[in-house]
Amino acid sequence: MRLINKVALVTGSTQGIGLGIAERLAKEGADIIIAGRIEDERSIAAAEQVRAHGRRVCVLAGDISDVATCRYLIAEGVARMGSIDILINNAGVEKSAPFWEMTEAHFDRTMSVNLKGAFFTAQAFVQHLRDTERGGKIINISSVHEELPFPNFTAYCASKGALKMMARNLAIELAPLGITVNNIAPGAIETPMNKNLLNNPALLEKLLCNIPLRRLGQPEDVAGLAAFLASADADYVTGSTFYVDGGLLWNYTEQ
Ligand code: NAP
Repeated sequence: MRLINKVALVTGSTQGIGLGIAERLAKEGADIIIAGRIEDERSIAAAEQVRAHGRRVCVLAGDISDVATCRYLIAEGVARMGSIDILINNAGVEKSAPFWEMTEAHFDRTMSVNLKGAFFTAQAFVQHLRDTERGGKIINISSVHEELPFPNFTAYCASKGALKMMARNLAIELAPLGITVNNIAPGAIETPMNKNLLNNPALLEKLLCNIPLRRLGQPEDVAGLAAFLASADADYVTGSTFYVDGGLLWNYTEQ
């Protein structure tokens, strides 16, 4: 149990990768703040699932494209749990469109959830750590598409590429405060975000041919790395991106 006496805020943890990470961090001893866009049966069920590991859990809700929500998540999380030690910037959205058809609303939504939300949640978290004179861990869930082009997903790729530079920059700026910043870049993970892919056997088969390990990843595959990066075992690790992709990045061709 590497995270005893730690509190972790995991954005977008009502399902998918975020829920997998929340559960794994709880198994490692952390108390967990579940955060989703809205408080509903899904977020309550997620909290129950995490609470089953014997940790304190609270549920917060709000749209992180709104900076006020980012600040609320940290302030309310601290009010309910006492402090926050680990921020997992996981909430994200993905939508496909040819570049020439991408609307301003599509672009703004993608950037404001994937980049602006992560940016200002991290900022509020850092202010909390400075106020309490403690170090901490920031882990952004980016994507192989912080590096790998993905036609028809230009806004998504731009948002994840920006997260790469955000992590590198903050790693340097925040190191004197004892705060480490790293990215996890998943490949194709079996979550609700990929429901179209999962319902299209021909497309899925093509993708699996691009994955040397010949399977989709599971949220647990990402969660194991998050637990390591959140722990003292990773105290000397900052400014890096770690791929969890079954080898996809170096074997990908667009069909
Ligand atoms: P998912 O199943 O769609 O879950 C996304 C989570 O983020 C949900 O809890 C969702 O809540 C929350 N969320 C979305 N928009 C939000 C907003 N505006 N404010 C607050 N919360 C919001 O996605 P996932 O597959 O687990 O992906 C999680 C992260 O991993 C994302 O950043 C994604 O880009 C990244 N990623 C995923 C894959 C993959 O193959 N699945 C690969 C690479 C990277 P609601 O459901 O209430 O909206």
